Amino acid sequence: AMRHLPYFCRGEVVKGFGRGSKELGIPTANFSEQVVESFPSDIPTGIYYGWACVGNGDVHKMVLSIGWNPFYKNIKKSVETHIIHTFKEDFYGEILSIVITGYIRPEKNFDSLDALILAIQEDIEEAKRQLDLPEHLKLKEDNFFHLPEGKIVNN
Ligand code: ADP
Ligand code: MG
Repeated sequence: AMRHLPYFCRGEVVKGFGRGSKELGIPTANFSEQVVESFPSDIPTGIYYGWACVGNGDVHKMVLSIGWNPFYKNIKKSVETHIIHTFKEDFYGEILSIVITGYIRPEKNFDSLDALILAIQEDIEEAKRQLDLPEHLKLKEDNFFHLPEGKIVNN
């Protein structure tokens, strides 16, 4: 899973599948199908962490899922970013810039919604800890987040 990391990506935030992540307290900003298809096809599905920035805003910690979501039996691949920050408003249509720096676990099926939420909360705690380590923390300051034409633009 680490071979493609760090992975830089930028793209518009689009409407997701309306499966109520926000209602669970864990909104996930979805990338467009075009951006999803620009990812390496052999990048393992699962839960990752890294840094994210909306428009020209501040850089925040994030957790990200890549792949087929078994709990919701998705028919499409998705790349969804939960930014570990409380935003005043939604940001559909804005440009989300992310750098994925580490991998947490493969996708799993959960017996209940509570089990799913608990797992995500554990992922968030793991991401917060890992991102404080120097090798991950340094990516927060990457020029990718500060230069409008920095590195890879995926759409
Ligand atoms: P959808 O199915 O449209 O992706 P979600 O319930 O997953 O709906 O909510 C995602 C939306 O919530 C994002 O597109 C964004 O506009 C908004 N949002 C607000 N706070 C956050 C956050 N901390 N992380 C990600 N998205 C957030
Ligand atoms: Mg979502």
